[in-house]
Amino acid sequence: MEILLIHYSEIGTKGANRGYFERRLREDLRARLVPSDATEVNINDCRLVAPLTEGHDKERIRRELGMVFGIAWYAFGRQVPREEESLKADCVALARAAEGAETFKVYVKRVDKTYPVSSDALCRSLGGAVAEETGLKVKMVDHDLGIHVEILPGKALLFAEKTGGQRGMPRGSSGRMLCLFSGGIDSPVAAWSMMRRGALVDLLHFHPYPTNEEVIGTKIIDLHRVLRTFNPKSALYLIPHHRYQAAAALKAPEAYETVLFRRFMFLTAEAFAASRNLLALITGDSLGQVASQTLENMAAAQSGLGLPVFQPLISMDKEDIVRIAQRIGTFDLSNLPYKDCCSLMSKRPKTNVAVDRCRALELELGMESLIAPTLEDVGLWDGTSCRKISPH
Ligand code: ATP
Ligand code: MG
Repeated sequence: MEILLIHYSEIGTKGANRGYFERRLREDLRARLVPSDATEVNINDCRLVAPLTEGHDKERIRRELGMVFGIAWYAFGRQVPREEESLKADCVALARAAEGAETFKVYVKRVDKTYPVSSDALCRSLGGAVAEETGLKVKMVDHDLGIHVEILPGKALLFAEKTGGQRGMPRGSSGRMLCLFSGGIDSPVAAWSMMRRGALVDLLHFHPYPTNEEVIGTKIIDLHRVLRTFNPKSALYLIPHHRYQAAAALKAPEAYETVLFRRFMFLTAEAFAASRNLLALITGDSLGQVASQTLENMAAAQSGLGLPVFQPLISMDKEDIVRIAQRIGTFDLSNLPYKDCCSLMSKRPKTNVAVDRCRALELELGMESLIAPTLEDVGLWDGTSCRKISPH
């Protein structure tokens, strides 16, 4: 029987609640592979085994697995009887099918310790059979072919080639969060990074248009589509910031606009997250990258918030971030032009705004009174249109 074998990464270090993480991973895999490519996804002694359907498509499976978090590596292989003689025949058949291979090594993992032959002895006996029947030479390092055998209760799994997975934690194993999503290079990578740690991430985008409909057709929608391949239920919320801009134009000193706007986004996002039961905020800040990301300005913008703020890119260089953006398919979209708020900001922002000063300006601006009306305008993009939702 043809199977897909999946070994998970960090879940392996979990103790009593390992089952919870295994089930999250299995759910993600099931949703992607059953019924078209696999008949089921089974948890089998710390690994997942999915019997493949007749019509399975390996390329499609590989694509899907590239979007699943929690996988250390996977392999296409076969489930076979575990008796020694029959294993020899199966290993020989596998070696014969490996075109161009001249050297090989057998790897045995004896998961079922009651199996009557030791791993070493089984390695030698299977290797001996392959060498004798096919003429391939045993080579301990840099071999052309690895023949892997895993002995489980009642069966063995046999495969040749391992492919590395995305690692991380399974989807939905770390709670729900809200990412402040600008559509630049950084925030999509930040959202993806937390998805990779098992979070379910919704996106909140503040835009400069009078209505949410004007965001439809922009890169924001396309970036959300890319991130949904990793988190299929990730919601995109749109929210206009014109109320804030109108107040700031009258009352915010120019050099403080950057910090005050960040403050406004945090306070609004926090109130919105609380209303949707989202337990943390995520941003794409990277320390020192721009004026709003100096330590002082970050401290001022985030002071006194009631939710944790996760900033997974905080210690990363732009080049590292760009590399990830390219790998996950957001980079080119992020580079498309978009009317963002930078054009509205001062060219010479203050880089060391004190917390007290920020708080005083926030009061003068009446920031608190802008939040509830702004939240009245939140829209949820449902894939075809944007509908108003009540934040309460
Ligand atoms: P990015 O590349 O993600 O746009 P950036 O380097 O341009 O980030 P800033 O503009 O200072 O940096 O924004 C820092 C973070 O603030 C962003 O990563 C994002 O999390 C949040 N942010 C900025 N603008 C918006 C917006 N219009 N809507 C929602 N969040 C925003
Ligand atoms: Mg930006």
